[in-house]
Amino acid sequence: MKIGIIGAGQAACTLIAELIRGQFDGEMLVFNGESHRPYQRPPLSKTWLTHPTETESLRLLPDPIENHPSVQWIQQRVTGIEPDDGLIVTERDRYSVDQIVLATGTRAKKLAIDGLPSEKTHVIRTLDDAITLHSALDGVQNIAILGAGFLAFELASSLDQPTRTIRVLAKGIRALPQVSVKAADRLLDATPASIRVDVTVERYDEDSAALITNHGSIPADLVIIAIGAQANTELAEACGLGTDKGIPTDSYMQTPHPCVSAIGEVSLHDQPHMKQKMRVESISEANDTATTLAKRLLGQPEPFNATPWFWSDQGELKLQIAGLCARTDEETVLINTETECVVMRHQGDRITAVEAVNAAKEFMAARRLFEQGPISLGSAIEAGSLFSLLQSSRS
Ligand SMILES: Cc1cc2nc3c(=O)[nH]c(=O)nc-3n(C[C@H](O)[C@H](O)[C@H](O)COP(=O)(O)OP(=O)(O)OC[C@H]3O[C@@H](n4cnc5c(N)ncnc54)[C@H](O)[C@@H]3O)c2cc1C
Repeated sequence: MKIGIIGAGQAACTLIAELIRGQFDGEMLVFNGESHRPYQRPPLSKTWLTHPTETESLRLLPDPIENHPSVQWIQQRVTGIEPDDGLIVTERDRYSVDQIVLATGTRAKKLAIDGLPSEKTHVIRTLDDAITLHSALDGVQNIAILGAGFLAFELASSLDQPTRTIRVLAKGIRALPQVSVKAADRLLDATPASIRVDVTVERYDEDSAALITNHGSIPADLVIIAIGAQANTELAEACGLGTDKGIPTDSYMQTPHPCVSAIGEVSLHDQPHMKQKMRVESISEANDTATTLAKRLLGQPEPFNATPWFWSDQGELKLQIAGLCARTDEETVLINTETECVVMRHQGDRITAVEAVNAAKEFMAARRLFEQGPISLGSAIEAGSLFSLLQSSRS
């Protein structure tokens, strides 16, 4: 079997590694739309930005996998797919395959700000973005970050310097709305950034090097747009297999077309943990969807049944989240000491997530619990399970 994998990011690389590990008896053509060999994205907003070392340290695949004879790397961007004919099209060539895997990920959402020159506008999605941002930092005193999610605060910690002022500007009424108020407070207390909420940017004034907003003028030698990501669905949309919300798949990562699958951030599928179809942006999702597809391609299909998890490093603080919750889920604080904070999120009786700040053991305990199946608050309290597990993990 010849598989054409479009994209060479986290999901694609996990699929390649899992297929090789499972002794896949076929060929993989991997289309890499970037000029770098496969690399990890999470360090780009964390350690890499503070200490940019050789890109070698970011490599996703070890040599024996990257250079495996079953893998052919094609350094070209795919411009179209023709699933009925098993064709993958680039600007230079057409490639015949038996199966097409869309692992195209997302791109950073952009925002046009009147008057803001392109050399002062940055996003962080790719290694090239990070290299460009890093080379623009010399002498910069005022940085404005638009968006107030994990990425914004990771960047604020990484870019912090005594001579710099970093301002995070939130459109909404609170920063870090993805996590509980308690966990957000912990992270925000430690951020070097000053935070403004309810901000609308009107334009950029080049003379004063400032953003003009509904809160007045905000100095900004450089502006980073961190307002979220847009799924790369165009290839699927062109053949009726996706919308701009994602590429719908079943629980085996198969689209309605028998020859096309989608994995990673771009795939929109049932999340058993949330009991709804969702697209999830995290390394765990990229790995778990890729593993699910690898099993099917190896002839041992098992439906996707993973519980998502996520982490974010912000300076000295590590946030880890087991599970996935809606922003409106209730919050109950389980542990709140000087050094750690653990918050349980729930929808009525159903526990949806556990957020742990500098509490790795509790995070692992919560992950193990979720892996055993859904947890109800009532039964957890009755059996003492959630609390005793979290408690025993502390001893
Ligand atoms: C700065 C940053 C920090 C992050 N930090 C964390 C973190 O701390 N924890 C966490 O869980 N997650 C984090 N993430 C998210 C995580 O990196 C992603 O969820 C993960 O990389 C998704 O994997 P993917 O394979 O679906 O997509 P990607 O890794 O984005 O790979 C998709 C690839 O497909 C390529 N592609 C797209 N279209 C085409 C085409 N037409 N032809 C050829 N190639 C194409 C793209 O160029 C890209 O290389 C972070 C992301 C970023 C950007």
